[in-house]
Amino acid sequence: MTDPHRVMRGKLQDSRPLAPLTTLRIGGPARWYGIPEDEDDLRAILAWATEEAVPWRPIGLGSNLLCPDEGYDGLILSLERARADVVFEGTRLWVGAGAHLSRVLALAARRGVTGLEALAGVPGSVGGALAMNAGTAQGQIASVVQAVRVLLPTGAVESWSAEDLQFGYRTCRLQTDAVIALSAELQLSAGDPAAIQRDLRARLDRRRRTQPLQWPNAGSIWRNPPGDYAARLIESAGCKGWREGDAEIAPLHANFIVNRGCATADQVLALMARTRCMVRRRTGVRLDPEIRWLLGPEALEARLGRFEKGVGADGVLHGPGG
Ligand SMILES: Cc1cc2nc3c(=O)[nH]c(=O)nc-3n(C[C@H](O)[C@H](O)[C@H](O)COP(=O)(O)OP(=O)(O)OC[C@H]3O[C@@H](n4cnc5c(N)ncnc54)[C@H](O)[C@@H]3O)c2cc1C
Repeated sequence: MTDPHRVMRGKLQDSRPLAPLTTLRIGGPARWYGIPEDEDDLRAILAWATEEAVPWRPIGLGSNLLCPDEGYDGLILSLERARADVVFEGTRLWVGAGAHLSRVLALAARRGVTGLEALAGVPGSVGGALAMNAGTAQGQIASVVQAVRVLLPTGAVESWSAEDLQFGYRTCRLQTDAVIALSAELQLSAGDPAAIQRDLRARLDRRRRTQPLQWPNAGSIWRNPPGDYAARLIESAGCKGWREGDAEIAPLHANFIVNRGCATADQVLALMARTRCMVRRRTGVRLDPEIRWLLGPEALEARLGRFEKGVGADGVLHGPGG
């Protein structure tokens, strides 16, 4: 195998613990963690991974990610240096996938450019927000996306329209296709800077009151089922406050799992399996994960399924699981 350190100009770390790269603070080491200098550097390391059949995944700020305790035998790529640019042209915005969403919102507010306020308090990068179609009941990023430049493993760059991206509720094609979002073109509108600032502050205040932000977490664990709220179902099934080791269903918000210290991925998965079994039993609704498992959705379902087999009628895990 060619030494990847000879391929990349940017920072490439071996055996990099993933926990500090996620907001849940969970996850063993990635075999390689790369921060390419620019798009050419990214293209070079991606070509190397493709050539050497090394699995790879882009990461933003890890605010929606659950990483395995055993780590990841592959390459994790961050765009924080290659594409963190933010350029306004009136109400049109070109933004790199590695830019922090909070910075984009702050710059837009200062310029009196409105349209992103619904994303106030959503942690993460622009790339992560695009992949997740991040948003709230008041709006999602898809509604302002004109186009996204994506890098294919072949090294080709394509421009995908909002239609190409097939946005849905907390999903789009960036989750299913093996591509990396490089940048996005967003169309916003003119607004009043003071009014935008007030709106942002009110939204952030509300989050501080209603979300358990003092503990590491990954936001909502489950998607809201049509016409209902996952938090309401979890609470009504009596799961609020349940614990597995240091992983806890937050007493303040039942759709959050918080890490009270040294929680492991397996503890989070066990808690998710117990919750899903109990909610199904009590309400008939099957919850669908919103959180992304680093190894992909099929691997997550397989892992959850194994834990679910060990869950008794009392909602307690009796089998070994995992
Ligand atoms: C306290 C808290 C509150 C939250 N509130 C909300 C909320 O209100 N609404 C909401 O929608 N989400 C919310 N989230 C979840 C999370 O912040 C969003 O999903 C966010 O958009 C993820 O961005 P990220 O950069 O952290 O992505 P990551 O967690 O790093 O990655 C998420 C997914 O995106 C992929 N990805 C990342 N970058 C790229 C790229 N450049 N190209 C292709 N794929 C990429 C990753 O591979 C992964 O599959 C919350 C999280 C927390 C911790």
